[in-house]
Amino acid sequence: MAEIAKNLLAWYDKERRHLPWRSAPGETANPYHVWLSEVMLQQTTVATVKSYFEKFLRLWPSVTDLAQAPQEAVLKEWAGLGYYARARNLHKCAREIEANYSGQFPTTEAELKKLPGIGDYTAAAIAAIAFDEPAAVVDGNIERVVSRLFRIEEQLPAAKKPIKAKTADITPTKRPGDFAQAMMDLGSGVCTPKNPKCLLCPIQSHCAAQSAGDMERFPIKAPKKIKPTRRAVSFWLEHDGHVLLERRPDKGLLGGMPGFFSTPWVECDSTPELSEAAAHAPADTDWQAGADIAKHTFTHFHLETRLLKGQAIQRINVENGFWHPIDALSDVGLPTVFSKIAKLAD
Ligand code: SF4
Repeated sequence: MAEIAKNLLAWYDKERRHLPWRSAPGETANPYHVWLSEVMLQQTTVATVKSYFEKFLRLWPSVTDLAQAPQEAVLKEWAGLGYYARARNLHKCAREIEANYSGQFPTTEAELKKLPGIGDYTAAAIAAIAFDEPAAVVDGNIERVVSRLFRIEEQLPAAKKPIKAKTADITPTKRPGDFAQAMMDLGSGVCTPKNPKCLLCPIQSHCAAQSAGDMERFPIKAPKKIKPTRRAVSFWLEHDGHVLLERRPDKGLLGGMPGFFSTPWVECDSTPELSEAAAHAPADTDWQAGADIAKHTFTHFHLETRLLKGQAIQRINVENGFWHPIDALSDVGLPTVFSKIAKLAD
């Protein structure tokens, strides 16, 4: 077991990825940077996260600065990263650290887990990388590496338990944070889902799947469920160079984000007809339907949306609605799904 950590750390010292939130090997990382990057990296690629991470640090260099920002500003800057509950929890967590921990991150995995939006993985990652606690860090990449190293035959998600236990077994007490990051890098660049580059792998001689020649069989996954398609119609109501937007309720999908008023997003065979959609329109006007459809995929479903365009005779007040200049629409922080819908108005 000790040999695995030794080989991997030696490889990391030479081959590690240089990422804006990382410190040099052996140096203590800033917990704010680790936390921010780890929250952003959930469900999002490193390439996409880099520019968001740098922008957030420019705007809010410390957790105290972030705590003092209005939630709306944080959501606006998060726009495009998706999974907006992360942004709401990020802000809530910053406020809690500021209020209850004097602006300092708690230093143990157990304490970190008590904070909003910090689950098992993020708590372990911060504890290991910023505070040198030998916590077992398991993300998707590490899950793959460990399941191959030990040929773990259980199917995910049941396999998570033995994977975590094996990760704990191989996590060293010295440089646990570098070890976790080395495992992430190995999974991302060497132990890839298809065609792992075993010849370049520093722990090849310890790998059970490589010996058996069935690396790609791991991790064993349950068959994929088919995603349902929900359909809706959105409303583009215009007046004097402005469009009516909706501030979505805080709770639920895309909570707190701006968007367009829409019919409910429901599973059905086609987008609702004008007569059906009218009941959900924010105003009674001569709605014109476009032929095109915007498509977007969420974690659990696909969404197909048509757009109805209409003119308002004045800037009417609608509950949760607000008017925004059309030529500044890109500044309002529309989630990607609504940016796609907005393009239908062109
Ligand atoms: Fe992954 Fe191959 Fe290394 Fe095993 S030997 S951990 S399958 S890259």
